[in-house]
Amino acid sequence: MKTTPQQSYTASSKRYDNMQYRRTGKSGLLLPALSLGLWHNFSTTDNFENAREILHTAFDNGMTHFDLANNYGPPYGGAETNFGAILKKDFLPYRDELIISTKAGYDMWPGPYGNYGSRKYLVSSLDQSLKRMGLEYVDIFYHHRPDPETPLEETMGALDHIVRQGKALYVGLSNYRAEEAKRAFEILKKLGTPCLIHQPRYNMLDRWVEDDLLATLDENGVGAIAFSPLKQGILTDKYLKGFPKDSRVVKDGRYLKVDQVASELERIKQLNAIALERGQTLAQMAISWLLKDDRITSVLVGASRSSQLLDSLKALNNIRFEKETLEKIEMILKAS
Ligand code: NDP
Repeated sequence: MKTTPQQSYTASSKRYDNMQYRRTGKSGLLLPALSLGLWHNFSTTDNFENAREILHTAFDNGMTHFDLANNYGPPYGGAETNFGAILKKDFLPYRDELIISTKAGYDMWPGPYGNYGSRKYLVSSLDQSLKRMGLEYVDIFYHHRPDPETPLEETMGALDHIVRQGKALYVGLSNYRAEEAKRAFEILKKLGTPCLIHQPRYNMLDRWVEDDLLATLDENGVGAIAFSPLKQGILTDKYLKGFPKDSRVVKDGRYLKVDQVASELERIKQLNAIALERGQTLAQMAISWLLKDDRITSVLVGASRSSQLLDSLKALNNIRFEKETLEKIEMILKAS
């Protein structure tokens, strides 16, 4: 539902009609097959009404999960601050219908306590995040990346402490490799705060999780939410005709480089042809390809406008693949 700056928002009464919800590992929590990430396009420096409209579109279509991190911006904290403003304006009546996550683990503030995985950093960072968002608790708090120097027992102890304080309902890990994740799960289990979910990068062009992480998560009853499922926009048809001015690679080259896009164009062209044969856009096929594996709890997409989200949501209409189609896709993905 489109609103003007003055109008208040009422969520669509049809919001639960089409979304599929999947169980997060062996927990009690269901997550939508598609979740929305606020890494790009949601900061205080981005267009407020556009961000608001994307969030409305997401929730109106059953995307009950919004994912943030302390450092999403720029500036750091900007996405949480902006999300807090939108939450206050539009979503407070729906708080109990939402799963809001945030994270700490990367560089956030100067000095030795604003990065990595100490108890000092995690506890203070979550306090700051809650203030920025105007929340009493988050639903999921993640350790954003492994810290090679802090004892895992300390980091996991901090996650357990945060849940016991009532500041998070569940905890998760992100970017941990299988072996380290497994050790973390064991510690958390002993502490009585089982790990809910792991958030790795996973898309057709980046498949490291298939080596052993997905199996480890499955064995331990931990859910998986795949980030950058469109490889930041590469796995769409947008770059097939050049580099649009409003695309991430042109607007914000921090994490996505022109060379990276250019080197994938041949494979993208071939994948796009298969998507069209399936009656899907490439973005839809890239999402469906992840959701065909029921170990994937949710696919965590980004969007720079609400029309992209509406396009991506249609992936849910077709997440089945013929064996021959999967084989054709494999051949394209394995060719370098
Ligand atoms: P995606 O791979 O989904 O890329 C999103 C971008 O793709 C959009 O900004 C847009 O690019 C383009 N796009 C999206 N939908 C479409 C569509 N239907 N058609 C055409 N183009 C489309 O995800 P992100 O890389 O944004 O990551 C998603 C989320 O994952 C983040 O917001 C964050 O929550 C999480 N994340 C977690 C990390 C971690 O370390 N745990 C690291 C990175 C992300 P454009 O702007 O060019 O229009």
